[in-house]
Amino acid sequence: MIDTHAHLDALEDAPGAVGRAAAAGVDRIVAIGTGIESSRLTLAIAEANDGVFAALGIDPHGAGGDAADRVEELRELLRHPKAVAVGETGLDYHYGGDRRAEQQRLFEAQLSLARELRKTIVVHTRSANGDTAAHLRRHGGTVVMHCFSEPELLDSGLDRGWYFSFAGNVTYPKAQPLRAAAASVPADRILAETDSPYLAPQPVRGSRNEPAFIRHTVEALAAARSADPDELASRIDANATAAFGLR
Ligand SMILES: [Zn+2]
Repeated sequence: MIDTHAHLDALEDAPGAVGRAAAAGVDRIVAIGTGIESSRLTLAIAEANDGVFAALGIDPHGAGGDAADRVEELRELLRHPKAVAVGETGLDYHYGGDRRAEQQRLFEAQLSLARELRKTIVVHTRSANGDTAAHLRRHGGTVVMHCFSEPELLDSGLDRGWYFSFAGNVTYPKAQPLRAAAASVPADRILAETDSPYLAPQPVRGSRNEPAFIRHTVEALAAARSADPDELASRIDANATAAFGLR
């Protein structure tokens, strides 16, 4: 299995979490940076651990000040062979509604870097569907919509070939609409992630999430799609290989 989105730099014991994941059959992890320092740490963790790859970016919470200028600092880090994507980046008007223009500038700078370096982009979006779709409409590269929880974006994303990655919140009792969305994503476009240390899936809800728990999310997705969990897991593995260009 693969966990396509984990904040390993936010875990106290990243090598321990990687080891527990491997013991649970999770042999690949895409670790995600949220800012420049976080991206440096994330890359160091990927470098030190087999099967761990890195996405490097500045998330919308970091918008403002000189953040958009610091995107240049990602360029050097992204040359590393284990750096497979730009992100997470995107728009969050739920928590940053007062900085929409700064968020858009930061997002656009990273989209342009991803195009230039031919890297996949990992997108976070919350309460900003219209603007997120507008920015991505102008972007030609591979898009991974992380922690997908905005079913109304499904149609524009499917038309444009985005990958949709589902996190632990798809397992929650009230998430029936999200499970319905997950059921309608084509088999070659679906991914699963933990978003560790956040959003622990239902059976371990309330504990700190880590990549070993991805199995619970895959099982919930399989149930929603009336699919065999093992088959879906290997499907997701193949999709992630394609989405991130993993070798
Ligand atoms: Zn994240």
